[in-house]
Amino acid sequence: MSERYAQILLDLPGMVAGGGVFDYRLPEDCVAQVGHRVVVPLGPRKVVGIVAGISDTTEVPANKVRGVQHVFDDVRPLSLEWLRFIGFAADYYVRGVGETALGALPQFFRTPARARYDASMRSLRTIKSRAVRAVPAPELNQEQKAALERIFEHPGFSVSMLFGVTGSGKTEVYLHAIERVLAKDPANQVLMLVPEINLTPQLEARVRGRFQDETVVTMHSDLTPVQRARSWLAVHEGRARILVGTRLSVFASFHKLALVLVDEEHDPSYKAGEGLRFSARDLAVKRSQDNSVPCVLGSATPSLETWAQVKRGAYALLALRHRAVQSARLPRLELVDVSRARPSVFAPQVKQAVDEALSRGEQVLVFINRRGYAPVISCTACGWVSRCLHCSGFTVFHKTSASLVCHHCGSTYRVPEHCPSCGNAELVAVGVGTQRIEEAIAHYWPEARVLRIDRDNVRTKNAAEAAFESVHAGEVDIVVGTQMIAKGHDFKRVGLVVVLNADAQLVSHDVRAEERLFATLMQVAGRAGRDKLEGRVMVQTRFPGHPIYEDMKANDYERFAERLLQGRREAMAPPFTHQALLLAQSSSLERTLGFLKRAQAIAMALDAPDVFVYDPVPMQLMRLKDAERGQLLIESSSRARRHAFLKAWNEALLTMPDPVSGVAWTIEVDPAQL
Ligand code: ADP
Ligand code: ZN
Ligand code: ZN
Repeated sequence: MSERYAQILLDLPGMVAGGGVFDYRLPEDCVAQVGHRVVVPLGPRKVVGIVAGISDTTEVPANKVRGVQHVFDDVRPLSLEWLRFIGFAADYYVRGVGETALGALPQFFRTPARARYDASMRSLRTIKSRAVRAVPAPELNQEQKAALERIFEHPGFSVSMLFGVTGSGKTEVYLHAIERVLAKDPANQVLMLVPEINLTPQLEARVRGRFQDETVVTMHSDLTPVQRARSWLAVHEGRARILVGTRLSVFASFHKLALVLVDEEHDPSYKAGEGLRFSARDLAVKRSQDNSVPCVLGSATPSLETWAQVKRGAYALLALRHRAVQSARLPRLELVDVSRARPSVFAPQVKQAVDEALSRGEQVLVFINRRGYAPVISCTACGWVSRCLHCSGFTVFHKTSASLVCHHCGSTYRVPEHCPSCGNAELVAVGVGTQRIEEAIAHYWPEARVLRIDRDNVRTKNAAEAAFESVHAGEVDIVVGTQMIAKGHDFKRVGLVVVLNADAQLVSHDVRAEERLFATLMQVAGRAGRDKLEGRVMVQTRFPGHPIYEDMKANDYERFAERLLQGRREAMAPPFTHQALLLAQSSSLERTLGFLKRAQAIAMALDAPDVFVYDPVPMQLMRLKDAERGQLLIESSSRARRHAFLKAWNEALLTMPDPVSGVAWTIEVDPAQL
């Protein structure tokens, strides 16, 4: 019998030329098929790889080629659909296909230790479901019905933008769409992507409650490795027909994917900030296309990328323009001009509104997008400010732990008693964070029961659930919190929402700052008046005349998006151009920028048509964890030409003669931030 060889995907760090695909010999009676996970020797180690192909020949010399040692044939092979999708993602984001494939598997299935494996396989296939209360399906209203029909209007692939404010009934449309798809074919499966699920236990309960006969599994960062493996396997084997998960779930292996839903599609957490810097929303669309199934993107404030696709007619617009529950009304937005007041306090009319809400027995939600007590402490004599020793940012004063914390790297420092620079004893906290607001609330409303919800106070999914539970139970009068309180929580008794310090984002130079602020404020505002209460939303701002507030008061996302898109078009900014960054870091800025300059020269030498190469610059946060960071931006009006350029550039950088030592670099495609 002739020899057989397998092309195996291996998780090799960095961007190995060749993409991390290696040939191994298959022993004579080896049962390995394409898609099987196998154990192979790699140097002195044993590692798990994935069979990507099998052939009769290899270019590796006979004395060099090593053999496959074990096949995990107790789990059916990964599908061709999955392998192709991984191949696409690796190619699009210019990464090795090996690291992309292995990185998409739960740790458990990447571990070669086989003994542990066999013993746990059976327990891994057992899913204990918590009993949940059945949630009956309400009948859809006209708008919802129309949306549902349009999702399935065309057989096969389509993208629909389900556009509606919080409470307009988007989730209800998702649930009906799921129901329809599952009823059609017993093998059908649904992927529902959500941002940071640990913050939305209500959604999970709603899905489980609606589909009591189904195995619903979740995937998110709060799961243990075994839980994660269990969810993954259940989806892979088709036992679970509904997967609700955060961005990594887009790489799950399905038996028969029939519908893809992306809730809050504009959410920045869909973009991975390290490793394969993918956009789960973009990949979700691609995966729907691969599978010829509908994709639904839902949001009250779609990303401009998505909105531009709607305008082009590429995505169908399904608008829910009313709140689903008739008695609930859209909150009124009131701007409180604090341009002449001290920013750290509640304005008088806000105080009065809080008094009134509390006296009516309503809950109050105070939103401030910054945790800690104050963003910085400073010396009144010489102007010294607290900074991180390892990063180029300030350190945030945390009063509860009496420390200075770097929010970039997590380093903590003791609060100095005297100014480290001039010895002056008077150090002051400048600016406000959640802890300071909590203190101010205790001062003004000593009777009120206050709960602070931020990442310092509420760290786990369980803690979040407990915190939100106490809000629902009415054990809290005033909630003060960050972004964490903005997302999909259905607070039924909140009568007043107060937004502090929203302006910080308006003066930022990030192109997407305005878009994010609008999304956040709409989301926060949506927390008010969800049930029968008429909600009131007060935003303290120093720029009451800013157009963003006009659009927000008018509840007019579309006008807002038009204005922004117009600006982007004029500036030739995304989505009207396609960008990529080369990110580099080393222990010295000079070396980092030196590398980027050479990379720039290499880029220019490629002479790619319609690709503009900028000059290297230090990153916004130049130093992070002692690494000096820089970046080089490239742009093209064509995605395809950008891609061709990036492939060539990447290859040239990998094979650069006398490479700059000590520099780590990576390419980021479609960066969310510059
Ligand atoms: P969204 O996802 O847009 O925030 P939801 O689907 O959560 O909106 O709907 C908001 C509220 O209205 C929920 O309590 C939901 O149960 C209810 N609801 C949604 N659609 C209907 C309907 N057609 N009839 C009655 N209640 C509905
Ligand atoms: Zn000083
Ligand atoms: Zn730091």
